[in-house]
Amino acid sequence: MSYVNGLKCRECGREYPKDVLFVCEYCFGSLEVDYDYAKIKKSLTKESLKDRPKTMWRYAELLPIDKEPTVGLFSGFTPLLKANNLARVLGVRELYIKDDSVNHPTLSFKDRVVSVAISKAREFGFDTVACASTGNLANSVSSQAASCGLRAFIFIPADLEAGKVVASQIYNPNLIGIEGNYDEVNRLCSEIASKYRWAFVNINIRPYYAEGSKSMGYEIAEQLDWKLPRHIVVPSAGGSLITKLWKSFKELEKLGFVDKVNTKVYCAQGQGCAPIVTAIKEKSDVIRPVKPKTIAKSLAIGNPADGYYAVDTVRKSKGWAEEATDEEIVEAIKLLAKTEGIFTETAGGVTLAAAKKLIEQKVIPEDESIVVCITGNGLKTQEVVTKSLPKLTKIKPNLASFEEHIKNGDRQKIAENKVIEYYI
Ligand SMILES: *Cc1c(COP(=O)(O)O)cnc(C)c1O
Ligand SMILES: [Zn+2]
Repeated sequence: MSYVNGLKCRECGREYPKDVLFVCEYCFGSLEVDYDYAKIKKSLTKESLKDRPKTMWRYAELLPIDKEPTVGLFSGFTPLLKANNLARVLGVRELYIKDDSVNHPTLSFKDRVVSVAISKAREFGFDTVACASTGNLANSVSSQAASCGLRAFIFIPADLEAGKVVASQIYNPNLIGIEGNYDEVNRLCSEIASKYRWAFVNINIRPYYAEGSKSMGYEIAEQLDWKLPRHIVVPSAGGSLITKLWKSFKELEKLGFVDKVNTKVYCAQGQGCAPIVTAIKEKSDVIRPVKPKTIAKSLAIGNPADGYYAVDTVRKSKGWAEEATDEEIVEAIKLLAKTEGIFTETAGGVTLAAAKKLIEQKVIPEDESIVVCITGNGLKTQEVVTKSLPKLTKIKPNLASFEEHIKNGDRQKIAENKVIEYYI
């Protein structure tokens, strides 16, 4: 059963069939999936959701797959946890973490988009999938291609974190490190995509891929009992996730699942690669491409494909934007770990650091609901924190050594490790 009318140009509105297309041949605008919402409304109801699986596929009508999904069957429906400890530290009343650091199967938000993209690529009959990636996309395409026996070509900047490289290589794809930054990887991939008949998940089947992000928004709404948060802080690389979260909220409004959308959307980027944040702060429509220089490599896209739409989303929602320095990123990773027991990667550090700054600036008020989107797992970017962590304490395997340690060991460390009053 399909609920998709076809594709539609985001700029001129021209309609196209649901095919392997991604740009408008008249105005070069990007194409977007167009749904039959009247039909969706009949099938997708709060009642019908009750006995559906706790995965992103419970919202299947709003995803662009015609048949049953064939990969990523366990992706999505990640925890939305009320972060009371972190809220106290930040001085706010109602704070939630949407925790995609535990998404299935590869521990990042990219599992959502890849589950849709590869299921769609199989509907189209492709035997090879590919991607240009800053790391997490590479992991998810490698894993999900392996799970359904497709050939995979994965293109990444050669200088990615070791954890990100291993977490692709293990699935045995054709993994190619490009001596250049993501924007150069992407340019090369566009050339390859026009020559080889492969499904590049974020290039020639991008309209379908991008829709997968919306599932995160549906889940947040459902997990808050169909009340949208007043504020949501979102990390941006190419600017797709932030745009699609907004689309998901507007769709829920259209379907009558939530009241009128009243959520302010905030964009978070690393200071050394913040073209979207800069445009928002300068109140400009124009994205000036930058050469990335940040430890947040998963967000290091200097020329974001959906940058314009990301800026437009933030402006429409009356939100704002903030950037995080490398030091602030590391501090925020440690703060989330210490207060909520969640180990996020650099992108999560960016998002929490940006949220913290927006709260300190009173751009986000202390007494309204806030969701912080944590999109990746800290085990993949360990090198950014190892330098700032204490050395491993080593003792002999006997009680006397332990008691010696307690007596003479790092007193400050032991004292700091006490129960702190903000814990409840
Ligand atoms: C890809 C990615 C994002 C956001 O990507 P967009 O290109 O803006 O959709 C956010 N966090 C992590 C960890 C990512 O890998
Ligand atoms: Zn057009």
